[in-house]
Amino acid sequence: MMENNTEMKSYAGFTIGPIYGVLSSARKTRELWFASYFFSWFMEKSIEQLSKNNKIDFLSPFVKEPFEPNNSITGKYHDRFILQSYLDKGALFREIQEASNNTLDFFVGLIDTLVKQLRTKYINGANKNTVRDILNSYIQRNFVVFDAQTFEPANIVNCINRHLNSMEENRSFDTGIFDKTCFICRALPAVIEADVWVKDTLERKELCPLCFIKYYAHRSNEVKAKISKNNLRYPTILDIAAVELLTEEVKKQNPIFKDYEKDYEFEDIEQAVRKTDSKEEADSLLKKSYSKYFAIIQVDGDSLGKVFDKLTNFDELESFSKSLFNFANEAEKIITFYKGYPIYIGGDDILAFTPVAFKGDDGKAKTVIDLAIELSDAYRDIVGKNHSETTLSIGVNIAYYKFPLSLSLKNARKQLFEEAKKDDKNALALLLTKHSGHQIGFKFKFGSNDIKNFSELLRKTLAGDVDFPHSLHYNLSRFKTVIANIPDKDRLKAFFENNFNEPEHSKYTSDINSVMNYFKEVMFHVPREHRKKRLDCVKEILNKLAFIKFLRGEK
Ligand SMILES: [Zn+2]
Repeated sequence: MMENNTEMKSYAGFTIGPIYGVLSSARKTRELWFASYFFSWFMEKSIEQLSKNNKIDFLSPFVKEPFEPNNSITGKYHDRFILQSYLDKGALFREIQEASNNTLDFFVGLIDTLVKQLRTKYINGANKNTVRDILNSYIQRNFVVFDAQTFEPANIVNCINRHLNSMEENRSFDTGIFDKTCFICRALPAVIEADVWVKDTLERKELCPLCFIKYYAHRSNEVKAKISKNNLRYPTILDIAAVELLTEEVKKQNPIFKDYEKDYEFEDIEQAVRKTDSKEEADSLLKKSYSKYFAIIQVDGDSLGKVFDKLTNFDELESFSKSLFNFANEAEKIITFYKGYPIYIGGDDILAFTPVAFKGDDGKAKTVIDLAIELSDAYRDIVGKNHSETTLSIGVNIAYYKFPLSLSLKNARKQLFEEAKKDDKNALALLLTKHSGHQIGFKFKFGSNDIKNFSELLRKTLAGDVDFPHSLHYNLSRFKTVIANIPDKDRLKAFFENNFNEPEHSKYTSDINSVMNYFKEVMFHVPREHRKKRLDCVKEILNKLAFIKFLRGEK
């Protein structure tokens, strides 16, 4: 902790990148994980070194004193830090530069050790120094240092953030023209030759240092020691998507489920389930299409700038950063409870893989929607408690297990930043891309009647307590304009009674009523005079019902 009675001399901000660039060339979950972990670890190591200096205090993120290393498989550090210091500007600049260079050297060493340990070798005249040169030019490390007099205390974090934003926008790096580019990212120079699985065959491929370490991180002793795991096996997409089917019993049927290198197919799960369960049980389990789909969720706090505007001193800033840190811990528990795997959780900033739905230990269905609601509630209780200006927005992308990871990531990001954060924020935006290519997208406001009613209807449907006739969604879609023009709740009731009065509907009366109630609760919030808005609202409800239909296993 900082000594008192001395005058603050300087402030600094640091940002690292290009995170998205490095993440987007990942083809496997484990590559995506390490791509992200690399940046978090880079920030952690730099922060660790700087935090040993008692003339430096971190404003964001919250850094415990004494420093505590993160031993979890989840990256916990943002791509930025902001600090204040009793060092003068020049001395602080040198401290940050040194910490950042030492960290870069650490990763160069980590890659070099692994090249020597594995059956791999440097090629095209490369060596450890070439690795350093590539990381040095590709990994963008930008920082600014200011004299303390430059700022009003209330503006520190926002001002530095603005500087960091503009530094990020003006980043330009020349990847250069090389004789050989990396087999995976096709952007950086190929300097290491290593075995890579291409479909079912192991091939010698030429990789850049980053794709090499992303692919082989699980073999690095330093990585294993960092997360205290001897056997590091990051789950594959199907491990996560089909969690409900892959019981210990089922996994015993085929060694391929424990093979780290080869990817298995859904058919392998299907065969194993059929060997384990009776025909009837297997049929009912395998009918649920959600086991073939996975979700990527991306989360971000809303309006943090407004909060930082109001925080005028170190204690307030530290206490707010600490609340984000506490939320991150809670979020990790929630995601794990929903059988998801966080890729990183840096305060409000989260990226995770999760199943779409599964039957929980309590026998009840759990879905990615419930997970999103719990994250939003936790944020409100922990971070929003003293700062109601900030809320949480969440983007979710759901896709078939063979859908390209880079595109899933891009879609999740788009749902977050272009849909959920549009207008009032505090929202969940979800996009489902079916195997056929057909897409369903919709949005909820957290805390609304809509999301409450929807999640209840979804839960009841998955539990089998509610069951719709197959034609329901089709019939409602045909009449969407008629529905949008219905003036009041009584006429809505009459509409449902008139349209679903065939004898085959009789056993579904209470189920059809649940759907009617959902329309009733949601659509009348939009006045009928706003015709386009009302129709959009009805279409959106229909999309949400189509999602329920998809989850319960209808084509
Ligand atoms: Zn590469």
